[in-house]
Amino acid sequence: MNQWSKIKQFIFPQTCILCAASDGGELAICTDCLHDLPWHKAERCPQCGLTSTHHQICGACLKNPPAFDATHALFRYAFPVDAMLKRYKYQHQLVMAEALGTLMAQALMNQPQPDLIIPMPLHSQRLQQRGFNQSLEISRVIAKQLHIKLDYQSCVRTRFSAPQASLPFKERISNMRGAFACEQRFDGLHIALVDDVMTTGASLNELAKTLKQAGAGRVECWVVARTL
Ligand SMILES: [Zn+2]
Ligand SMILES: [Zn+2]
Repeated sequence: MNQWSKIKQFIFPQTCILCAASDGGELAICTDCLHDLPWHKAERCPQCGLTSTHHQICGACLKNPPAFDATHALFRYAFPVDAMLKRYKYQHQLVMAEALGTLMAQALMNQPQPDLIIPMPLHSQRLQQRGFNQSLEISRVIAKQLHIKLDYQSCVRTRFSAPQASLPFKERISNMRGAFACEQRFDGLHIALVDDVMTTGASLNELAKTLKQAGAGRVECWVVARTL
């Protein structure tokens, strides 16, 4: 902790956002709660992030390679991370973005760093409904802490589609086709796509495909939580 953080901690002690203990520290999550979070520690497929023995590329990725090259998921989508993301998204608890973004940055700092971070875009209509883009706010924290350029304007979601969560698995894929557009070229760039939750990966795959068509060299998914 640097001097300013110590002073800040003294003046504004943060309670833990999960258990209300008084020693939430800079992250606003206490050490015990941090330890108990559902960290995605299992051996997993480097490409899609699903469980796979010896970290080998899984059968699904071999058979049907996704457009993205790698997936880094910090947590399993399980309690209390699922509840945290819901509180963040639907009750606008922006303190979650700071905590989750910081944990993401800490976990990814030793990875080869991308040239650019692109948050999963929301359709303008959805943005109006929700008031903010949850992936953008997390991206801001990661980009700032890792000193990576953030680009939240070059890619847009062109179709207002039904929320993915309301659709059966197979329809999620067709629901996403042609859903994104990029205004510029990304020739040879290494890009990290940031999203809060990765379920089937259909939207991340479609965005990665659009970016590859726009010249991107490598596209990774950086997600807070992965549904397993
Ligand atoms: Zn706690
Ligand atoms: Zn896989």
